[in-house]
Amino acid sequence: MTLTWGNASAIDRERGLVAIKPSGVGYAVMSVDDIVVLSLDGEVLAGSGRPSTDTPTHLALYHAFPEIGGVVHTHSTWATGWAQAEREIPLLGTTHADLSPHAIPLTRRLTEDEVESGYEAATGAAIAEAVAATGPVELSCALVRQHGPFCWGSTVEKAVEAAITLEEVARLASIAVNLDPRAKVLDPALQKKHYARKHGPSAYYGQPS
Ligand SMILES: [Zn+2]
Repeated sequence: MTLTWGNASAIDRERGLVAIKPSGVGYAVMSVDDIVVLSLDGEVLAGSGRPSTDTPTHLALYHAFPEIGGVVHTHSTWATGWAQAEREIPLLGTTHADLSPHAIPLTRRLTEDEVESGYEAATGAAIAEAVAATGPVELSCALVRQHGPFCWGSTVEKAVEAAITLEEVARLASIAVNLDPRAKVLDPALQKKHYARKHGPSAYYGQPS
């Protein structure tokens, strides 16, 4: 992680508590006491510092997606490259299909008013819009236009895993498009197969738990 960039949060749905990275604190020096605990409405309940500036984005995602338990935001190089090029990441290969059977969407452009006031919450709303058609289970990442990726999962560990996988997917897609600008979208049968064998009711990837 570069400098203090990026942030992560987790939610306890039963108690309605969100734990999030403090703003501008380095990962190497951060301790448990620095983690800020808030209500879903953003009221700080514990922690000495200020929460991440992106907190309203995280809270908007927890409100929009009751299924999720953790959110991670990075400026990882390859995924951010696609966001800056204002391109969704097309589903070109099975590595991507293992993560999601959909293209990784790009959020819409925010209006000037949204940028002026309530910017971070509007960013969360734009992500929710981009994911509305597929839902947050089959699609665990989105690219915020000209900014970078947000990822989520049933836990914050799953969200981190999605963010790491997305970065590799973005790197592979960059290479494929560079080698062949007309690289074809993965065959629909393979899209479904790869996602289903790793996720969902009849998954058979890995060891039975
Ligand atoms: Zn950011």
